[in-house]
Amino acid sequence: MSTRRLQYYGSKILRNRSRKIDISLEGELLQSLLSDMLEILRMERGLGLAAPQAGENVRVFILNSEELDLKGHSVFINPELTVSGPLHKDEEGCLSIPGIFEFIKRPYKTTVTAYNPSGVQFSLDLDDYAARAVQHENDHLDGVLFVDKLSPIRKRLIRKKLSDIKREYGQDSRIL
Ligand SMILES: [Zn+2]
Repeated sequence: MSTRRLQYYGSKILRNRSRKIDISLEGELLQSLLSDMLEILRMERGLGLAAPQAGENVRVFILNSEELDLKGHSVFINPELTVSGPLHKDEEGCLSIPGIFEFIKRPYKTTVTAYNPSGVQFSLDLDDYAARAVQHENDHLDGVLFVDKLSPIRKRLIRKKLSDIKREYGQDSRIL
């Protein structure tokens, strides 16, 4: 039984800066969190999910490795990113902001170093959409949402949709 629920735009948890997790001391939390996150990602048919989206402010995200070439990795714990390359525009969405898809500029390449659930560190050099997905998920760990990166004009155009999401899901998603 999953106890954690998907957090939607308007949930304060999505705006907090998340803390690192101690893999050896917090194994139980990590295990239940990852199982809930995988369940949410599967149910919602998402590309990725960060822990705050499941209601936990810890530095963990998962990505769908069937959709993205991540050399077999799908769990990223305490990730550190280095981004490079030209800015590249592509379309993004977010499970926490349903129905909104916008083109966002991001650096084309990402090197990510993280830990897997066994506590083994790994490093990946990614580009294009995999690099973008890692940047999007990592932003969640700092309380940043992709709509924050829109131009003021685009932001104004989706303002009503955002407040609709807040009204429709916001209150409910705070109950864990
Ligand atoms: Zn997202």
